[in-house]
Amino acid sequence: MPVLNIRHCFSLEVLELECGSKYFSPDKRRELTWFTTQILRWSKGNSRTDLPWQQHPSPYRVWVSEIMLQQTQVATVVNYFDRFIEQFPDVFALQRASQEEVLAAWHGLGYYRRALNLHRTADLIVRECSGKFPKTVSELCSLPGIGRSTASSIVAAVWNEPATILDANVRRVLSRFHGVNGPDDTQITELEMWKLAESHTSEKNARNYNQAIMDFGALWCKVSNPKCNECPLGSNCVAYQTSQVSSFPAKKRSSPLQCKTIRPCVVFDQRFDCLLRQRESSGTYASMWDTLEVGNRVQPQAFLLQMNLPTDNVCLFDSVHTNRYQISNQQVTEKLTVAKYNIPAKTLGTPWNTRWTPFQSLKNVGLSVRTMQRIQLAKSLLETK
Ligand code: SF4
Repeated sequence: MPVLNIRHCFSLEVLELECGSKYFSPDKRRELTWFTTQILRWSKGNSRTDLPWQQHPSPYRVWVSEIMLQQTQVATVVNYFDRFIEQFPDVFALQRASQEEVLAAWHGLGYYRRALNLHRTADLIVRECSGKFPKTVSELCSLPGIGRSTASSIVAAVWNEPATILDANVRRVLSRFHGVNGPDDTQITELEMWKLAESHTSEKNARNYNQAIMDFGALWCKVSNPKCNECPLGSNCVAYQTSQVSSFPAKKRSSPLQCKTIRPCVVFDQRFDCLLRQRESSGTYASMWDTLEVGNRVQPQAFLLQMNLPTDNVCLFDSVHTNRYQISNQQVTEKLTVAKYNIPAKTLGTPWNTRWTPFQSLKNVGLSVRTMQRIQLAKSLLETK
């Protein structure tokens, strides 16, 4: 193993040299190769090889898994992946499915925009590429929901092409090992970070290297309690050797919490069919079905009139339950209103952009977990009245 000098900021020396590995000094090239070798060596016996998408890694299976893994832990994805593939075994089946079916299969995974992007991408691949996946990073990046790291992950996992990934786990390892993106004087640009990641990517064995460094970040160089004492990179890790592991990478300053109050309104007919509205095609929960929402300072009766719903034959419960939760930097207070008609939906009419859905069919609509829980709560509150 080469003995290397620890430089506090790796980027300045190396990246000025135009960032390609062929431009690196012999010492630096040895360091880069040593890092890659250590990671590949570590992976033997430590890397995960039994994940469902690693078996028969077709472009379709790898793509689905990569989208599921964005912002979601491996253990959670494992529970969804096989079920999703069983329901939509190939890109043609996914393209033929309705948006609702795809959202329903995604129920509980969160970040539902990913499901909509999967569906749109399946449509593009079937219609414009006859069902064949593009094989280059740049072509894959042109598809909805696929960024450079995801595209590289697919290209390397399926075709073993030397494509570079830079997800949160990889960023953490590189930041600590090279001592970059920690305290202010060690900040490097996003482009420099990519160049750093590229410089380590194995030319011949990108598939194994990419999997290995992701696993290394997730299992060894963890956010808290990294296993530095038994780490194969420890002797040259800047953060470890300078006792600054907790300073790398620097934590993002979170923006101050904003408070917001919303007034969802669950409307049931006589048989507990539920009135749902479709959300706009942009923003959080884009295009998904949801409960209605009463505007602030609007009385529930006035709201029903606004929706062209009758105000007789109905029991109204305003602010019957309060729920508080946080979504990113928003502190949300949810005040629930429930309207229960004692006449059937067909005599009530269907306001614009809404639909009546039988209670038993709600699970097939692709509602978010929070919406589903809200409807169930409203029903049980009514049953106790
Ligand atoms: S020594 Fe610690 S901080 Fe450095 S790469 Fe290993 S686990 Fe991460």
